[in-house]
Amino acid sequence: MFDNLSEKLDKALHVLKGHGQITEINVAETLKEVRRALLDADVNFKIAKDFTNKVKEKALGQNVLTTLQPGQLMVKIVKDELTGLMGGDAEGIDLSGNPSVILMSGLQGSGKTTFSGKLAGFLKNKKSKTPLLVACDVYRPAAIDQLHVVGEQIGVEVYSDRGNNDPVAIAKAGIQHAKANGHNVVIVDTAGRLAVDEEMMVEISNVHRAIRPQETLFVVDAMTGQDAVNTAKAFNDRLDFDGVVLTKLDGDTRGGAAISIKSVVHKPIKFIGTGEKMDAIDVFHPSRMADRILG
Ligand code: GDP
Repeated sequence: MFDNLSEKLDKALHVLKGHGQITEINVAETLKEVRRALLDADVNFKIAKDFTNKVKEKALGQNVLTTLQPGQLMVKIVKDELTGLMGGDAEGIDLSGNPSVILMSGLQGSGKTTFSGKLAGFLKNKKSKTPLLVACDVYRPAAIDQLHVVGEQIGVEVYSDRGNNDPVAIAKAGIQHAKANGHNVVIVDTAGRLAVDEEMMVEISNVHRAIRPQETLFVVDAMTGQDAVNTAKAFNDRLDFDGVVLTKLDGDTRGGAAISIKSVVHKPIKFIGTGEKMDAIDVFHPSRMADRILG
């Protein structure tokens, strides 16, 4: 995960991590390299620039060069800023409803169905919930089958209605089914398309309006970098979702989406997907991620 970025930042901060004398010149040089590393990670130019400007400001504010261990302080400032950029504290999901309804959105192939299963398994095993998965992709029968396979793997019931092509009606019926059968969480998996289009947006907005979920999550493939950020923005403009799920982080060597998404859409990353298996799910902790990136 993020190996390229970690390596480049490690190189950039190398001088500061050593105990040699630190001057204004090598601080400036370091920040330039940090910026370059962020750009290479597919972080948007403005975010990378603001980031290094903020680090510089903080360093000046704390008189870094006159402290006993200026290098370590600089590394700490970089780590704190990186944590802040990714969201600060970890954010949970709202499970206060009875049932709590969680709506999943995102493009086809983002990992939405896989993540719906992972989340159901996580809530069942770690939070002692009794989830119900609801299949609302009315276009691809294979997507309904896939959710049933996932449900079987984790031992969670799946509600579907193959003859029905109205996702709003299926979502509502699914919630009724949950109420009647003692499920306290409902995870609604919706149809995605290969690119953002009006029809998909209208459909997901209709489902959103009809079921008023406690939590709307946007799922996106981390490996798509800036595209992930742009897609998040398009969905957020229409759906005003509550949080982001970044999938496929196990294959993401660059980290641009993880670093940029929060400051572009102003919504937290809540979960990450780190593999194809059902247990490859983690709550996103910005500070732990910053530690991991900076080694
Ligand atoms: P959907 O179309 O959005 O529902 O996407 P799927 O759930 O079908 O996932 C698309 C592909 O991505 C599948 O082959 C999944 O196994 C794979 N996938 C999903 N999440 C992850 C992840 O976190 N890591 C990896 N490596 N693959 C994933």
